[in-house]
Amino acid sequence: MKKGKCICPGCPSFVECKQLAFCFTGKSKCIKKEKGCLCMGCPVQIENGFKHGYYCTKGDEKTLAK
Ligand code: SF4
Ligand code: SF4
Repeated sequence: MKKGKCICPGCPSFVECKQLAFCFTGKSKCIKKEKGCLCMGCPVQIENGFKHGYYCTKGDEKTLAK
């Protein structure tokens, strides 16, 4: 897990819930409103070749890629 590189804390949709790296961990228990997503510019997204966004509300990359 590369939580240290996750840029979610700077995102307008982010709600602190001791959770990060939703692209791996799936939906947040706390984030319910989509107010913008920074995943497209995130190093974790780029390094792993992930293609989606709003992982906190939609689920992890593995689920979305199905
Ligand atoms: S792609 Fe999004 S959810 Fe995944 S580590 Fe980066 S900012 Fe966090
Ligand atoms: S997954 Fe995207 S929308 Fe959700 S907090 Fe991270 S950057 Fe923001």
